Amino acid sequence: MSEVVASLTKNRRTTLERVEKFLSKEYFVDVNLYGRLYRQSQDITDILHWNASSPSPSPSTLPHPDTTDHASTCSSEHTHQPAWKVSVPEKEHFAPYKLGEPFGPTFSTHFFHVAIAIPPAWLGGEVHLLWDSGSEAMIWRDRALTEPLQALSGGVDFQMRDCFVLGKKIEECERTRELWLEVACNDLFGAGAGGMINPPDMGRMFAVKKAKIAVFDREVWELFTDLEVIVGMAKSLPENDPRNHDAMYLANHIVNVMKTTDAKISEVRKLTQTFFSRKNGDSQHKIFALGHCHIDCAWLWTYDETIRKCGRSWITMVRLMEEYPDFRFVCSSAQQFQWVKDYYPLAYDQIKKFVKNGQFIPVGGTWVEMDGNLPSGEAFIRQFLYGQKFFEEEFGKRCDIFWLPDTFGYSAQLPQIMRLAGIKFFLTQKLSWSLTNQFPHHNFLWRGIDGSEVLVHFPPGDSYGMDLTVADTLKTVDKLKDKGRAHQSVLLYGYGDGGGGPTPAMIERGRRMRDVDGLPKVVLNESISDFFAALEKEQANLNTWSGELYLELHNGTYTTQGEIKRKNRLVQNLLRDVEFLDAVLMAFYGIPPVDRKSQWHDLMLQQFHDVLPGSSIGLVNQDANRILSGLIEGLQVECAAALAHLVENGDETALFNATAGEIRFKSADTSSLGNVFHTLPPYSLTSSFNRLTAQAYTTSLTQQGEYFILENRQIVVTLDKFGQISSMLLNSGYAQAVRQCIAPGGTANSLVMFDDVPLYWDAWDCMDYHLEARMIEKNFVRADMVDGSVLVVEFQMSSACSVLQKISLVPDAAVVLVNCTVNWKEKHKFLKMEVDANITSENRRATYEIQHGYVERPAHRNTSWDWAKFEVCCQRWADLSEHGFGVSVLNATNHGFSIRERKMALSLLRAPKCPDADADMGVHELRYAIMPHWGTFQDAGVVQQAIALNDTWDPRIAPLIPPNSAAPPPNEQQTEEHLSGLIQFFTLSNPAVVLDAVKAAENGMSRTIVIRLYEAYGGAATCRVVTRFPVNGFQECDILEDVVGAPLKELSDSSFIVQLRAFEIKTYLLFLSDEIKLK
Ligand SMILES: [Zn+2]
Repeated sequence: MSEVVASLTKNRRTTLERVEKFLSKEYFVDVNLYGRLYRQSQDITDILHWNASSPSPSPSTLPHPDTTDHASTCSSEHTHQPAWKVSVPEKEHFAPYKLGEPFGPTFSTHFFHVAIAIPPAWLGGEVHLLWDSGSEAMIWRDRALTEPLQALSGGVDFQMRDCFVLGKKIEECERTRELWLEVACNDLFGAGAGGMINPPDMGRMFAVKKAKIAVFDREVWELFTDLEVIVGMAKSLPENDPRNHDAMYLANHIVNVMKTTDAKISEVRKLTQTFFSRKNGDSQHKIFALGHCHIDCAWLWTYDETIRKCGRSWITMVRLMEEYPDFRFVCSSAQQFQWVKDYYPLAYDQIKKFVKNGQFIPVGGTWVEMDGNLPSGEAFIRQFLYGQKFFEEEFGKRCDIFWLPDTFGYSAQLPQIMRLAGIKFFLTQKLSWSLTNQFPHHNFLWRGIDGSEVLVHFPPGDSYGMDLTVADTLKTVDKLKDKGRAHQSVLLYGYGDGGGGPTPAMIERGRRMRDVDGLPKVVLNESISDFFAALEKEQANLNTWSGELYLELHNGTYTTQGEIKRKNRLVQNLLRDVEFLDAVLMAFYGIPPVDRKSQWHDLMLQQFHDVLPGSSIGLVNQDANRILSGLIEGLQVECAAALAHLVENGDETALFNATAGEIRFKSADTSSLGNVFHTLPPYSLTSSFNRLTAQAYTTSLTQQGEYFILENRQIVVTLDKFGQISSMLLNSGYAQAVRQCIAPGGTANSLVMFDDVPLYWDAWDCMDYHLEARMIEKNFVRADMVDGSVLVVEFQMSSACSVLQKISLVPDAAVVLVNCTVNWKEKHKFLKMEVDANITSENRRATYEIQHGYVERPAHRNTSWDWAKFEVCCQRWADLSEHGFGVSVLNATNHGFSIRERKMALSLLRAPKCPDADADMGVHELRYAIMPHWGTFQDAGVVQQAIALNDTWDPRIAPLIPPNSAAPPPNEQQTEEHLSGLIQFFTLSNPAVVLDAVKAAENGMSRTIVIRLYEAYGGAATCRVVTRFPVNGFQECDILEDVVGAPLKELSDSSFIVQLRAFEIKTYLLFLSDEIKLK
């Protein structure tokens, strides 16, 4: 073999392009190397087709809690049958199929029977099936669909997988073969009509474009892959790097040799092997190349299709692991493992073997890759609790890496929750999508609001689905922001969302790049844990990022699909209530607690990072709404049934409050002093209104000219006929001290509409320029005073937006409560509620509730970082304060917020059209409140008011007697028989401490309850917790309910002291003593 000729006169561009054309799949295939991959091929003529779908495709049937049997909704009891789950008939029921014949439509399922007859002349050769149906497909060995073999995917040409190895050395007995292909009529990214994120074209037809068998020349492929890497180096290494030129001349030389001689490929490959044998220096950056396929639990397709995407992708990974022992694949989401276990049991058994040998690596520790902003703190905790439990039960091991590469920002409370779930590492990359500012690190310590830290890695390639090319590895090093501090990075490669993960070609390229002069070192056979162990050794060099990881994009997802968000919050509250009641029934009546896991699973699935944010197609949103509604209905009945246990016939009612806020019930009684309200304290239960403190409070509503005056002891509010507040006077105990809460010339409770057309990501993005297109016009319909205390206004913002508001005051509080019904048929509009707060302090920072605490964000626009946060996420309240005074906006249904200068704006509704053309169309019930206050928001009780505002579920008052009815006089004796008056299950001495969850313990611990507290005000707190539960000991634990620290402590007089640092979450096991009846 001749030496490489390095001509002085070579034109770089023509040389490189010549070699590329030699490898091209498109050009000169008749004479190039690619064209030699398959020596011989033959069309398959014996194809049979069977349409497995009912005429009209429907949304998934997944999981649907049976609303007729509310007590049992365990996963195993779901009778879920995805539409694709069918019995395939004998092939006699199939019809002959000719290539190109259309079948469909979108999201339907078709089976093909393929009879393969390999010509005798091909014996001993490697034979492949080549198949392209322009869609996703699974190859099954048998008609009974027990043994999945491998996935194929087409439709998206850049992530094609069209080949299945029938045999590497075909023997006589393998010459004939039957296969069953299950074809799903969608591609990797659904079936968007005329664009990926457009609503699906439900009428799209598909066709098999290619069905062949062919003899594969593996030697040619090896050389082809060598050349891919060498050309990659010639193209991507810096031009002043001699290796760049070595690579170019070698590649060119090989083309010459291949074209002009009949040299054996094995001889030619000696040249490439010599080139690859030149080793790297020891200091080269190390790249941990890990296979991955990010599969969205639902997005541009339904949950049902995701089950198949998981099954198809993961069995394909099993095939690769059999072929390549050095191949490592990371995979998250307990829910997806559960699906594969349920629907692909044989594949799951194989996966388990590869988990054991370390090739298939479960990561993440959560049930799904959830949204990182919107779920409650307790919902975050359950993601980890039920996720980690699953991984432990199935694979004998918990995860120590949280994996969330694709959500739209990350709550500043996540580091603590991760730590409490035994996780100290975190991988994501989504912040690379930020529009305005570049995040300054790829490796750093992330510190949460309580001071907890986790070690974070962003793969510097800014992707979780690379191709493992030379360019990918060089980009990984080039972009790395922590050069000199960190000496290894992760590169995630493989096609996601049904593309089936990595391909053999990717692995082969990776193998060639292991240790080659000029390239970073690529390791394939080490795990993600090995990576973090290496990074941890360099931890001392890394910077710390404190607070949230805010994504400067996709901030419309705090608002889109408002109904899903409203229901999500309601289910979170109902689960809190029902679990508290479970604990009461267990403690006092010996009733075994109901297993709530499956209800949590159903909720947590809806918190997936394309469902709760509202970025999925309409079919998914129908599923989510149905599943959430089922949960609401079921949980309400279960709560009512639990309460019914606690009262007997004759008791007029059962009133229950699982929250940290006081709840006031209006009685039908009136006194000369005003309406009478009964106050139900936090964490308490009673069978009678008469057990509660009753007090008369006056609220007056009067009309003065064009204005309405709504007034109580604390506040005087002036409203116009649109419910818009022009004056809000906050009283103090001193007659003179009255404060105007509305900025001069400003208003509050003003509904404003903005034009809302993003650049591309419709459901996802609101852009900064929407603030310039502000519309405030309203058409008056009516304004009525009802019950002497409620102002009802009705108006139109446009012909496609009508609003009805019921405005009242919370009894004896400076809280203006607004229940707002919006009939919304807009296109690309953004509806908000604005408050101009009379705050004069400069250098303002606004405060927003997040999970178990709050964050401060700038209310000014000093820097690009400040301005980029023009729309942010909050939980139940946001506050703008100066010394001694502030204004809070509380909400029960929304998450989008912005505070700029003095203007506070709660985002109410959006109207994007992609990927769901009907997003948010219809009637919405929204609920928010405006609460000006003296002092700090902590001192003013904003936290408790916001919690109480969210407690909107009236049927807790069980049975029979509605809250407004007069309570009959109590029958003392009967009451004593059952609930002894008012039971406060917990009394907390410090208002900064919120008891957020009371539940039966997991882990099979009988007669044990779990309580979870957090510090909500942002400072260290000591709190005495007094409980009425019959408890004889307590023990701190983590959120996985594993014991932490000191052994069992005795309770002294039913109380114990807890100490928390700012925003700390603490969980305790309370061991119940013998059952004590509530008598
Ligand atoms: Zn995703």
